Amino acid sequence: MEIPNELEKVLQLTKEQNTWRRTQTINLIASENVMSPTAEAVYMSDFMSRYAEGKPYKRFYQGTKYVDEIETLAINLMNEVTPAKFSDLRPISGTLANAAVFRILAKPGDKALIAPVQAGSHVSHTKFGTLGALGIEHIEMPYDKENMNVDIDKAAKMIEEIKPKFVVLGGSLYLFPHPTKELAPYVHSVGAKLVYDAAHVYGLIVGKAWSNPLDEGADFMTTSTHKTFPGPQGGSILSNDETIFKEVSRTIFPWFVSNHHLHRLPATAVALIEMKYFGKDYASQITKNAKKLAESLAERGFKVVGEHLGYTKSHQVAVNVRELGGGAKIAKMLEEANIIVNKNLLPCDKPEDVNNPSGLRIGVQEMTRYGMKEDDIEEVAELIKKVAIDNKDPKDVKKEVIALRQKFLDVKYTFNVDLSSYSTKSIPMII
Ligand SMILES: *Cc1c(COP(=O)(O)O)cnc(C)c1O
Repeated sequence: MEIPNELEKVLQLTKEQNTWRRTQTINLIASENVMSPTAEAVYMSDFMSRYAEGKPYKRFYQGTKYVDEIETLAINLMNEVTPAKFSDLRPISGTLANAAVFRILAKPGDKALIAPVQAGSHVSHTKFGTLGALGIEHIEMPYDKENMNVDIDKAAKMIEEIKPKFVVLGGSLYLFPHPTKELAPYVHSVGAKLVYDAAHVYGLIVGKAWSNPLDEGADFMTTSTHKTFPGPQGGSILSNDETIFKEVSRTIFPWFVSNHHLHRLPATAVALIEMKYFGKDYASQITKNAKKLAESLAERGFKVVGEHLGYTKSHQVAVNVRELGGGAKIAKMLEEANIIVNKNLLPCDKPEDVNNPSGLRIGVQEMTRYGMKEDDIEEVAELIKKVAIDNKDPKDVKKEVIALRQKFLDVKYTFNVDLSSYSTKSIPMII
């Protein structure tokens, strides 16, 4: 039978996506990354078609001997490189990792204290997201405008007064570390647990460019495995406390996953190995690039958030573009020039500004992975200025963006593996 049009369309769209996002755009979405060719090769494997309910070597199905080995290997690598005593890679996303932890730490009607929205807390921490779905009461800790962070003194008092079941730190618009070691003693003094959501900064933690919250008193770290950490989309739960870890781990299956998308396991293992050997260089380059981007944008007349605090300690930069027309408009114009960023609420915005917030959130982790250093990042800042401030035609700037991107087509901080010696005849990739 001839290939139907619908199928042609699917193949064509996939090819166009690959060409556009992998070779023609500068991707600055702070929550994204790319895997190395080796990680992608093992991701596109037979594991993607299988089930392995339960834990390694204690499965409910047959046929899992290689899954058992690869899952054990990935867990051990994660424990080693984080470091953590225990980890569970079965949550298929950061949101589900949070759900599993929150569900064990509190019952419906119990209280949780979360970082203020202005300090970047994620929707899954709130009454609008996972916390709300679990019926747990969402109470926000106070915000310290000057430090753009949780107000430590007021939060400590609130913890002592409210005696929540748990406290959540870690954020999505996340420039400066939340005060983990400062608040941990207060959390523990009322018998509560501290959950640190490292979704955005896990790669920086592994690369030692950000403190490990488990060393600073967090009882749990939850994470995504695909933001600064360059693995497949997925989640994980880590802890140093065997008792509470086991309680959570016991419930992941069957409460939150049936199959746990097994092809994530070899791909996450590859990313963990890459981070073991190259993570420090990668993470320190990310933070240098983020700082350089903030400075370069500020020099070019942008209102970069957090100047008095040195702009950023993470992979992110936040820019207030209200006077230039707002985040929605500028993000759209940049997309026309093949520069991909997202509009974002800033601490100065109100919740109702959600569709046209003041900010852009910009992350440098993916372009760092493709090899950009500070000078290249300055060129990116110049291209952003041409669109947003100089009002150059985005179509013209797009040509310069594509030309710049041609120097950054290969993932760095990885091993050069001859994949042909591992290929079997079965699984093709569209590259
Ligand atoms: C992205 C993010 C998540 C959710 O991760 P998913 O893997 O997309 O479910 C959770 N918490 C924070 C702080 C995040 O930024």
